[in-house]
Amino acid sequence: MFRCTNELKGLAIDTDSFTDIPVEEWNRINERIKCVFITSDAGTEKSLVAAFGNEKVLYIPQFQMKLSPNRTTHKKVVNILKSANFDIAYVSGNYNFVKNARSFLSGSIWVKQTVDYRNTNILPDLIVDDIEDLLKAINENIYGFFGESILFPNSLDKGIILFVDFDANNNPIKLITAGRYFPSYHYMAQLHPYSRAIYLNKQTDKPYTGLFNEKFAGIYKNIINFLKEKTTIDGVCSVPVKPNKVDNFKYIIDKISKDCNIENYNDKFICIKDYEDQKALSSGERAENIIGVFQYNGDLTGKTVVIIDDIVTTGATLRECVRTLKKSGAKEVIAVVLAINQIGPTYWRATPLISCPYCGCEMILRVAGKGQNRGQFFYSCLNCFHSSGKNSTKKFKTAWKELSDNEDSKVEQIAIDENQIEENWRGNL
Ligand SMILES: [Zn+2]
Repeated sequence: MFRCTNELKGLAIDTDSFTDIPVEEWNRINERIKCVFITSDAGTEKSLVAAFGNEKVLYIPQFQMKLSPNRTTHKKVVNILKSANFDIAYVSGNYNFVKNARSFLSGSIWVKQTVDYRNTNILPDLIVDDIEDLLKAINENIYGFFGESILFPNSLDKGIILFVDFDANNNPIKLITAGRYFPSYHYMAQLHPYSRAIYLNKQTDKPYTGLFNEKFAGIYKNIINFLKEKTTIDGVCSVPVKPNKVDNFKYIIDKISKDCNIENYNDKFICIKDYEDQKALSSGERAENIIGVFQYNGDLTGKTVVIIDDIVTTGATLRECVRTLKKSGAKEVIAVVLAINQIGPTYWRATPLISCPYCGCEMILRVAGKGQNRGQFFYSCLNCFHSSGKNSTKKFKTAWKELSDNEDSKVEQIAIDENQIEENWRGNL
């Protein structure tokens, strides 16, 4: 799914970002799903109107295209597609367009064959290789990342994994991610069960600690088995924990190694220095801080090693792990992570998206650690709980229905400048 839907009902396509796609190709998509075609090129507009009619083409002047989709564009798109915000998605080959699109609660699809790590701190909901791949995704109901889909309530358990080009000290390796992680300050943090699950799972001594180990192990195993179809994988390890710290990955690594029938390198891959916590450091400081802290006590000559981690942020720790494993002879290192941290800048309203009916504060996405609802997500207001002991909660589904309705009414309220419509809008609103 995209962040918010289980059913895709319409696409808004940034046709300008595709230079060599003939109208017939767009028609194949349009026959499958309702489309609106966005362009700032008069010639393209003409041929699109000839093929699909006025009402399916949205013309935007070039100077506005740079900032698109903006609120005005979004309202027009929603009106043309006549679907809820949650049920539509933007499609573009242009990273900037996709980044802007991700600011709405609609889906965002990037058509891109290779993705560099530098472009991953703002990732759209879905990445496809080309138009053929997009059609395949639509036909198979693949609406987002595999990991995010697995953790989403009532999900279809389908999704993509993303291969990213990761430069580990001038040593390019493949990094594979099952999803995205939205940090606590991000507007998506309380809307993203996957991020919350990763966060809650590694808390210590809470009822939900380790609650998602089984699901996460399943995600890693799926990816490793997929890799094994193409190449030999000799063994697996995780990023070593600091001396005398509890290894949260022990259960997962043991399970992966056993179930995928590959070696477990964790006993030999250790951390020999109690380095400063990376979280508070800048990217440069992180790289500096981590040098020489790992050691591999063995010989990996000729081996292909999978290293797993939950969240990768600057990649400094991962780079040092790769360096250490390669120094010990590893022929190839492949990194498999649950999520890439979405720390890139993003514009968004400050109002809470899921708000408490009593005090109006943002409600926190939590998970039941015990009882018959164990493992299920729900919303809770910490403010009410702490100030009055009152238990204000909302079921996940209820909260999301409200969110969807709120979002739709907010977009309805966006005022479109009438003069702008005359100038910019040539379709029938
Ligand atoms: Zn409250």
